[in-house]
Amino acid sequence: MVTVQIPKSPLEVGNFVAGTWKKGSGQMIPVLSPYHHQTIGNIFESTTEDVNDAIMAASKAQKDWANTPIKERSKIMFNFRNILIRDQEEIAHLKSAESGKTFQEGLAGLMKGIEVLEYALSIQNLDLGGKLEVSRGVQCEYRREALGVVANITPFNFPAMVPMWTIPIALTLGNAYVWKPSEKTPLTSLKIANALKEAGLPAGVFTVIQGKQTAVEAIIDHPAVKAIGFVGSTKVAKIVYERGTKLGKRVLSLGGAKNHIVLLPDANLDLSGMGISDSFTGCAGQRCMAASVLLAVGDVDKHIEKIIERARSLQLGKDMGAIITREQVEFLKSAIDRAEKAGAKVLLDGRLAKAPEGFGEGHWLGPTILDHVQPGSEAATVELFGPVISIIRCKDITEAMKIENSVDYGNACSVFTSSGVHAERVIREASTGMVGINIGVPVPREPFSFGGINASKFGHGDITGHHSLDFWSNIKKITSKWEKQVDSNWMS
Ligand code: NAD
Repeated sequence: MVTVQIPKSPLEVGNFVAGTWKKGSGQMIPVLSPYHHQTIGNIFESTTEDVNDAIMAASKAQKDWANTPIKERSKIMFNFRNILIRDQEEIAHLKSAESGKTFQEGLAGLMKGIEVLEYALSIQNLDLGGKLEVSRGVQCEYRREALGVVANITPFNFPAMVPMWTIPIALTLGNAYVWKPSEKTPLTSLKIANALKEAGLPAGVFTVIQGKQTAVEAIIDHPAVKAIGFVGSTKVAKIVYERGTKLGKRVLSLGGAKNHIVLLPDANLDLSGMGISDSFTGCAGQRCMAASVLLAVGDVDKHIEKIIERARSLQLGKDMGAIITREQVEFLKSAIDRAEKAGAKVLLDGRLAKAPEGFGEGHWLGPTILDHVQPGSEAATVELFGPVISIIRCKDITEAMKIENSVDYGNACSVFTSSGVHAERVIREASTGMVGINIGVPVPREPFSFGGINASKFGHGDITGHHSLDFWSNIKKITSKWEKQVDSNWMS
């Protein structure tokens, strides 16, 4: 088990504009490590003018980049991959220090991001165009073209993986890319931008803008920005989607989640115990794929015992990380209090967990299991975003699926069972974009995309994977004729 290395002195991270780092003109925002609540970095808010200057530089650089053959663009992305692999541990330590993840989680997130990069390296051999003789002497052709400047706004909980869902694909397709990281976890952007620079990416093709709402609004509003990806809470996803689409831009906004796991009595005890426990405790429950509600169908007490046993064995700071802010720990504790008052039984109480030695000031909460939670209550419907799972007792699958379908979100739903018939029913009836069979965190791997439906995603299409190519590029159709056509008709 590797202990996270926390920076001893604060790192100052500016905006990455035209290949160099420069401070935003706004206020300083300190970055506190969830491990000990001390400042490990500082960023400076970007003003609208800062954003406009940066996007102007990106727009200038984009034209040459788009005219660079994809083979050459891919070579730079290949160098980028090798640098990330070389520096993986250093990056994993930094992203874990700022987000509260364990080192293993930090490393795994980066590796998932590198998978997308490896997929992007294959784009040069995939769907870049085609040509057909549609009638004698007439050729129709389609070409995939870059959009121009594209932007992406990302959440705190995956400082490298979520940005890496889109950076490699959007850049390989010939776009200039503007990234606004979360102000809570902006330090990883230093490593990613420097790696791209070292890889040989021309100045201006990749931009980092630090800041909050003002910076996001200026990015969306800038006329040179043609497409906007967003990942974060549903509240902000909707705001970003509406602002961008009002301006006629393409926007794909991924929001929050309240994921259900249907647990059936025929489920394998060990598989379900481990899968469900790891799903709600991994990344301290701060992931949009975390199990949040357990729909316990029939008598599954033996299975629940297994879940409790595994969750209870986790050591804070070693097997499970910290919560992003102190305010969020307080919110989670108060939500547990409210659930208890509303009649839930606390089977495992994270409020009592002790901080790891030497990290008493950090943001800690142990795994928490609430039983007999009522459908429709706060613990059953609100995204808490912490290591808390609410068990709702159900008499059959019909009741379970009715509860699953009643929640606004639609990211993921899993079922633990040994019956293919039951699994198929959950696949068909789940009101989600992703379904897991005996998997607690059903994250698809490239070239499949990631993404939910309902209040978990605004916009059409995929943000990553094969189907994202159409989001991050345009298809141009060319119809040509070089000789007089023999069989002329009204279209000639
Ligand atoms: P958040 O919505 O608070 O912030 C996301 C980004 O939006 C940040 O960069 C932030 O600076 C910016 N932002 C915040 N308020 C804004 C405003 N009013 N206008 C414009 N921009 C604004 O989300 P978070 O707390 O950083 O991340 C956690 C959330 O992200 C959870 O809801 C989680 O489920 C969700 N998430 C979803 C996915 C997914 O793929 N669906 C993946 C990871 C996280």
